[in-house]
Amino acid sequence: MDLRISFDNSYARLPGRFYSRLAPTPVAAPSLIRLNEPLARSLEFDVEALRSDDGVAMLAGNLVPEGAEPLAQAYAGHQFGGWVPQLGDGRAILLGEVLGEDGRRDVQLKGSGPTPFSRMGDGRAWLGPVLREYVVSEAMHALGIPTTRALAAVSTGEEVLREARLPGAVLTRVARSHVRVGTFQYFAARQDVEGLQALTEHVLARHYPDAAGPLGLLQAVVAAQAELIAAWMSVGFIHGVMNTDNMSVAGETIDYGPCAFMDAYHPDKVFSSIDRFGRYAYSAQPQVAVWNIAQFATCLIPLMGEREAAIEAATEAVHAFPELYQAAYLRRFRVKLGLRGSEEGDAALIGRLLDVMAAEGADFTATFRALTEDRLDAPFRVWRGEWLARLEREGADISAAQDAMRRANPVLIPRNHRVEEAISAAVAGDYAPFHTLAEATVRPWKPEARHLPLADPPAPGQEVRQTFCGT
Ligand code: AMP
Ligand code: MG
Repeated sequence: MDLRISFDNSYARLPGRFYSRLAPTPVAAPSLIRLNEPLARSLEFDVEALRSDDGVAMLAGNLVPEGAEPLAQAYAGHQFGGWVPQLGDGRAILLGEVLGEDGRRDVQLKGSGPTPFSRMGDGRAWLGPVLREYVVSEAMHALGIPTTRALAAVSTGEEVLREARLPGAVLTRVARSHVRVGTFQYFAARQDVEGLQALTEHVLARHYPDAAGPLGLLQAVVAAQAELIAAWMSVGFIHGVMNTDNMSVAGETIDYGPCAFMDAYHPDKVFSSIDRFGRYAYSAQPQVAVWNIAQFATCLIPLMGEREAAIEAATEAVHAFPELYQAAYLRRFRVKLGLRGSEEGDAALIGRLLDVMAAEGADFTATFRALTEDRLDAPFRVWRGEWLARLEREGADISAAQDAMRRANPVLIPRNHRVEEAISAAVAGDYAPFHTLAEATVRPWKPEARHLPLADPPAPGQEVRQTFCGT
């Protein structure tokens, strides 16, 4: 058993104004809720050591391992379109970076106590958001969608005060990095061109070694986000708080707050209780991504030489988003429909399916799965005829098409009512539903028979219509 970790902390080598160095605040009685063993192994961590008292103390922030250089990162951001010049890690601390099987990863504790960026908050997290992020981020990973990961959830033995007194918890989050569009905005707003330069070089080296300079970085982020948002759309995922500080420049889904997978499909679906105007509704996500990337582009212009030419190049790079997004969207939805080739009318064919789904209030996940098994309900009869004709035109073998569809249309996603159920049970001391949900949702394509009830859409009284930030 060996808790020694080989850290290599590149962010901590950046200038001091990028962060504030401090250790996590210890908690009263750390207890391990769940450890993600496959992820731990891929980071070359000793699983037994992580489960030991010292390991759990580390995951709770009570023990800073040798080689860690704990810090809270500075960033700014637009929240619901309003500019906030200083945000930063108010309840998270980066322990450091490790070089795992898949490359460099941040190891961060979320809910680890106050930092100089906490402003009004207590720096803590309660059990609900920690368990939600654990399940949903790992489900996203299992669906093949770029995301931060959950290494562990630990209960603190302390209460946090929200709308009620709630049990506290800490999530260990693993990410390619925690650099956000808002990190660039932080330096741009301070006209700190040297800071921007250093951050650009850091991100290029870390995430986009084949890209060069600020324009190369912008183009790479545009491409990564176009892919990411198309992937979200293909599984009915709504992030809920696409503020610029919640957009990772590495192209991972980050900061799971009031996020949700849709049950009944509607393009204007919103879950977040704080998103009153539907700014971050399902179908708004691609446009919001463009808006966020435009803020990112604005930050990079001071690094791009002569101003007029820089603005022109940056604008062109941002304008590439819709086409890249549309291509990624079509690629994903074609596979969902079992199509191999492409036809002019495919976008319209997909659109007409979604129209019927919206009119019927059909469940997003269940409908695509029903299509996979060619057992759509009566209202889809006309559309099914068009779809079969389209398959026939490309000479598709229906059973081969269905095989491909089974790998693009998940059976099981973390449904809101199941997540809420797991959280309520955990608050009452019963973690079994959470563990079951966490085990089930990492097998989205072919769940075990015993997990199949978790795939069912909510019954009428079960549907969760709103999710809360609950930070
Ligand atoms: P988020 O909702 O995770 O995107 O957070 C937005 C900002 O609020 C970030 O700067 C967070 O660090 C900060 N924040 C959220 N919750 C807390 C909390 N409980 N204590 C301190 N800061 C917080
Ligand atoms: Mg955030």
